[in-house]
Amino acid sequence: MLDIKYIFQGALDYIQSEYDVIDVTMNLYFNSLKPLVINGNKVVLMCESDFKRNIIYDRYMHMLLEGLRTELGTEDIDLTIVTRDEHEKQKQEVTEKKEQEEKIKKEREENPSSVVNAAYTFENFVVGSSNRVAYETSLLVCNNPAEYYNPLFLYGPSGLGKTHLLFAIINEMKTKRPDLNVVYITCEDFTNMLVESISKKADPAIFRSKFRNLDFLLIDDIQFLANKRAVQEEMFHTFEALFNSGKQIVFASDRQPSEMENIDKRLTTRFSMGGVFDIQPPDAELRQAIFKRKADAYGVDIPNDVLQFLSENIRTNIRQIEGAIKTLKAHSLIGGEDISFEMAKRVLSAYLKKAEEDSVNSEKILKYVSMRYGVKKEDITGSKRDTAIKNARHICAYLMRDMLNMTYKEIGVILDKHHTTIMDSCVKIENNVKKSENFAREIAEIKKELSV
Ligand code: ADP
Ligand code: MG
Repeated sequence: MLDIKYIFQGALDYIQSEYDVIDVTMNLYFNSLKPLVINGNKVVLMCESDFKRNIIYDRYMHMLLEGLRTELGTEDIDLTIVTRDEHEKQKQEVTEKKEQEEKIKKEREENPSSVVNAAYTFENFVVGSSNRVAYETSLLVCNNPAEYYNPLFLYGPSGLGKTHLLFAIINEMKTKRPDLNVVYITCEDFTNMLVESISKKADPAIFRSKFRNLDFLLIDDIQFLANKRAVQEEMFHTFEALFNSGKQIVFASDRQPSEMENIDKRLTTRFSMGGVFDIQPPDAELRQAIFKRKADAYGVDIPNDVLQFLSENIRTNIRQIEGAIKTLKAHSLIGGEDISFEMAKRVLSAYLKKAEEDSVNSEKILKYVSMRYGVKKEDITGSKRDTAIKNARHICAYLMRDMLNMTYKEIGVILDKHHTTIMDSCVKIENNVKKSENFAREIAEIKKELSV
C-alpha cells in the first residue's frame, strides 16, 4: 500500500508549485493538515481547529481538490476534513462500540442461553398435523428429561418453528424445573467459543466444564458442524459426557442426520439414536390457524375472507406469515384503512408473487446467475473450468441450498455435478460470505432480487 503521507505530500508539492503559495500560508494551513484516510477517491484530512477549517473551505478548497485530483488521478474526489476534536470523538465512539460488543459477547459466552426469547412458548405454538409430533416430543422431554427421546432431534426447512420449540422447552423448564441447569446454544456460537478458547490457548477444561456439567443441553442449527473437524470432536465428547450421565440433549437442524454430509459418522449415528422427528410446511388448516393467532397477537382485526385468502397464498414459511400480518398492520395504521380483501391483495402482492414463484426457483436461480455474471447456462451445468464459470456455478449451488433447502444430491442433478463438488461449492461461498462484507452484500442483493 502506498504511504498516504507520501501521497498527500505530493498533492501539497503540486499546490505550492502551481499556485506559488508563500511559506507562511503553506505552513499555517496546508502543512498542518494530517491525512487520515486516502483510499480510492476517498480522502479524510484532519485539521487542528474548526476556525482553520472554515478558512480552508473558504479560500483554499479548490487548490486542495486540484492537488488531490492530480495526485490520485481521478476527477471525482470525496474529501472530508474533520477537526481534531471530531476525530477524537469518533475514535472514542468506535472504542466504546467495540467495548459494548465485547461485553455482549462475553455475557453470551458466560450465559449462552441469554439469547433465548421468553415470548416463544408452547402456549403460543400453533399445532397442526405437520408439526404435532415435534411439539409433543418437545413437551415430553420437558416432562421426562432423558427418559424417552435422548437425544431428541428435530429437523425441517427454515422458518417452521424449530427454534421456537427449543426456546419453548427452555422457558417451560425454567418454571417447571428451576433447579436444573438448562443451556441453549447455536452451533455457530459453540464453534466461535471453541475457536476462541483454542486461539487464546485457554485451559480446555474451562470450555469443557461449561458444556459437560449441565442437566439439559439444546443445540440449534447443528447442520453448521459440517466440515468442522475440531468442533465435531468437541461436540462428540460433550455429547458422550452428557449422555452417559443421563442428561437430556436436543438438536435442531435443517436436515435429518442421514442427510448430513461431512459430519463424522459417529456423531450422525448418535444424532439418530434417540428420536428423529420432522416439521413439515403447514397445511392450509394450520396456516389459517397460525394467521389467526398471529393476527390476535399483533392486535390486528382480519376478516375471515382475508384470512382464507392469505392462508391459500402464503404457503411455505411461517416467518412469511408473520411478515404479512405486520405489513397489513402497518398499512392499515398508516393509511387509516380497514383490512379488506382488496387491500390485502394490493398490499401483499410482493409476498404473493414470491409464494407463487417458489416452485420454479432452481431454474430461476440458474437463469438469473447466468444473466448477472454473463455466463451461459450450458457452461454452468457443463464442465468448463474458467474462473467466471466456476464462480457462477458455486453461487448457483449455494443459492439452491440456501434459498430452496435442496440437498447436495438434488443440486448435483440440476448442475450435473457430483454431490461432493456441490458441497465444496457451497462451503466456498459460505466462507467468502463470512470473509468479505462486499461479497456478502452481493449475495444478499442477489437473494433479494430473486425473491421479488
Ligand atoms: P426455524 O428455527 O425452524 O427456522 P423459527 O422457530 O425461528 O423457525 O420460526 C420462525 C417464526 O415463525 C418465529 O417467529 C416463530 O415464532 C414462528 N412460528 C413457527 N412455527 C410456529 C407455530 N407453529 N406457531 C406459531 N408461531 C410459529
Ligand atoms: Mg432456527
